[in-house]
Amino acid sequence: MLNKNIEKLPEFDGHELVSFFYDEKTGLRGFIVIHNTNLGPAAGGTRYRNYKSEEDALRDVLNVSRAMTYKCALAGLPYGGGKGAIIKDDKKPKNKLYLETYAKKINLLNGSFFTGEDVGISVEDVKILAQKSKFILGKPDSLGDPSPWATALGVFYAIKAALKEVFGSEEIKGRTFAIKGLGKVGFDLCRLLYEEGGDITAAEINLDAVKLAQKKFPKIKIVRPENIHKEKVDVYSPCAMGNEFNAKTIKELRCQIVCGSANDQLVSMRDGETLYKKNILYIPDYLANAGGVINAVSELDKSGYSREKVLEKLKNIQNTAARVIELSKKKKKPTSLIADELAESIIYDKKI
Ligand code: NAD
Repeated sequence: MLNKNIEKLPEFDGHELVSFFYDEKTGLRGFIVIHNTNLGPAAGGTRYRNYKSEEDALRDVLNVSRAMTYKCALAGLPYGGGKGAIIKDDKKPKNKLYLETYAKKINLLNGSFFTGEDVGISVEDVKILAQKSKFILGKPDSLGDPSPWATALGVFYAIKAALKEVFGSEEIKGRTFAIKGLGKVGFDLCRLLYEEGGDITAAEINLDAVKLAQKKFPKIKIVRPENIHKEKVDVYSPCAMGNEFNAKTIKELRCQIVCGSANDQLVSMRDGETLYKKNILYIPDYLANAGGVINAVSELDKSGYSREKVLEKLKNIQNTAARVIELSKKKKKPTSLIADELAESIIYDKKI
């Protein structure tokens, strides 16, 4: 139960809409939130996970919904930010009726909110949702599924912008990389970097993924997950979970660039400042990892899905990252702050 006003939560940040849903029959319970629709309807996945409390779920979803607004703005997409959170109850099955009931909740927003896969929501779940709602992204039978390939490629381009800044060349060959997490995105990023001659060290808690990586990329070095961020490399790429950088972990970093797919990498904005002061070039997470949403929303394009257009937008992540780096140098401010300012200049149509 929430015991404070929602607008007083630090993550609220002027959200346009916070809606709670509960269905007695299925036990479906959660929130759909819409941060900002200045650029277009809200887009953002739906999470299905255990939360400690309703407040915990709401704060999580408000936080990622805001990031979606910023992500869409920097990616040049005509969408705003929103997010869904379904509070998992181990006694209630996430069956067809449960998902169909959620689809009906989405329909109540009548196209102000498009959603799809996220933590705990599978491709199979998305298929069920899509049978009952036309506001579902990443339908498995459509080309715009939320393929991690697009996220990995976007991160790859963001890395190139950072390499160009730090080493004067965007060439991958001969550069050293540390990747945390060889999941859907990390594995594909590893492949992209490996194929171009990158020297890769990685860490992963799932031993099957480690074995597969060692088979596919024989020169890869594997280290323990708790040590991967301490590797002396050119680029450290967090592709596992969020909340990676705090005062302690930043002190232990020995890389020159941080650029990865994980959401919410900074524990607080202060950590962006600390990275900057340590002279580590940080490419903000929501800038680097926009590839997934770029690909997913492209299936809504009036002229139909175009892989060429998607690839162009993914490549443009490199230009946006370069712009953020330039502005950061010019204004002598951390890239984390500059990315926010640049996104806000787009969302609220103001000068930077
Ligand atoms: P995933 O679940 O497929 O991969 C995450 C991997 O990290 C897993 O293999 C997991 O075993 C590993 N892992 C977890 N904790 C670890 C630890 N402490 N050390 C080492 N490995 C650890 O998820 P994904 O789709 O590859 O996404 C990776 C990150 O990128 C997530 O933070 C996600 O929110 C973010 N992201 C993904 C997409 C996308 O298109 N999938 C888009 C934007 C952002």
